Amino acid sequence: MALREFLETMASRTRDALHREAERLLEAAGVTREPVALRDVISALNLSLVQTDREPFSCEAALAPLGDGFVVSVRGDGGERRRRFSIAHEIGHFVLHPAQARHERGGTVNEAMRVREREADAFAAELLMPQHLVRQAALEEGVDARRLADRFEVSVAAMSLRLRRLGLAERQSDFLPPSRAAL
Ligand SMILES: [Zn+2]
Repeated sequence: MALREFLETMASRTRDALHREAERLLEAAGVTREPVALRDVISALNLSLVQTDREPFSCEAALAPLGDGFVVSVRGDGGERRRRFSIAHEIGHFVLHPAQARHERGGTVNEAMRVREREADAFAAELLMPQHLVRQAALEEGVDARRLADRFEVSVAAMSLRLRRLGLAERQSDFLPPSRAAL
């Protein structure tokens, strides 16, 4: 097998694994519809969520040990949808990278860290925009990134990317809803 093919197989396995982890978590949290209730996911994991505006707090959200558990702290400013993605990203670290979550992240950025960041982003997308719910919503609304973003309370950019990843949209024009006249 060529190296490229091998790496692609690995990548798709990873996406599958992330997908399964996110589905399991949503099921445990009893989340069955959009917009995904992150509070339910957070309590299913026994995490707590705090909002902070304290300086210095440069990143959007962070995961830190607190007593016996962990706390996700998130900045109070900025948009709600961005905040939701940041929280889901930190939940991704908690689920996928428990060993690293114990240590403060930061310092020199290496490849392993970049991989973890990409995984946490992919997990956040799986968590906030579950495949089956997005497909169902797209059937009802059309493949309209803006409308679907409203429905899932995510950014239009995140939804556009998700629709492309799921093979529901390829070009910008595909984001337009189907013409009612054609139905
Ligand atoms: Zn991260």
